[in-house]
Amino acid sequence: MFDPIQTRYDKAGPKVAEALKRRHFDAYYVSTPEEAAQKVLELIPEDHVVSWGGSVTVEQLGIKALLQQRGNPVIVRDTAKDPAEKTELMRQALLCDTFLMSANAISEDGQLFNIDGNGNRVAALCYGPKSVIVVAGMNKVAGTLADAVARVRHCAAPANGQRFDIPTPCVATGLCGDCISAQSICAQMVTTRISRPAGRIKVILVGKNLGI
Ligand code: SF4
Repeated sequence: MFDPIQTRYDKAGPKVAEALKRRHFDAYYVSTPEEAAQKVLELIPEDHVVSWGGSVTVEQLGIKALLQQRGNPVIVRDTAKDPAEKTELMRQALLCDTFLMSANAISEDGQLFNIDGNGNRVAALCYGPKSVIVVAGMNKVAGTLADAVARVRHCAAPANGQRFDIPTPCVATGLCGDCISAQSICAQMVTTRISRPAGRIKVILVGKNLGI
């Protein structure tokens, strides 16, 4: 059956990938989550130590289990027995070989925009891991950078807030209150204009709605 959303994604996705390439990201467009998971496996050498940030998209791809089945060493913060060990594992993840994450939004001209509470995810994006793989559904692609920021602040962040038991306006009302709560999930707001070094950040765009 004709699917206008899928058709639009299949037309726009390769163009956004080209825009990302102009900004020195390695970029790929695939139509399905299964193809995305295969591309992730292709891009990660079997001896790479892999870790990831909290990501609904990465969960949806099932890639963590595939990597562990293949024998890649992994750093998994969720295995920590207490908060101190979790913090230590998050610190170790900053020096892994490949870090997996999604993006909160991507502009059509190829810029990534992310927010983060603890900052571990955007820290790894900026510096540390040798390679970063960003997997994002085409629903994350907004128009301009301003549109990407608006998507995150008014849609993704208040929705992400619902995953946590925190005293923020978004959790109470579903709307962003531009809070400065000590537990705000919006402590860091990071725009990644280019990949430097070239090719360090790989972006896989997927022609489906994934994540938040
Ligand atoms: S209310 Fe605070 S934590 Fe929630 S989305 Fe807005 S800035 Fe982020």
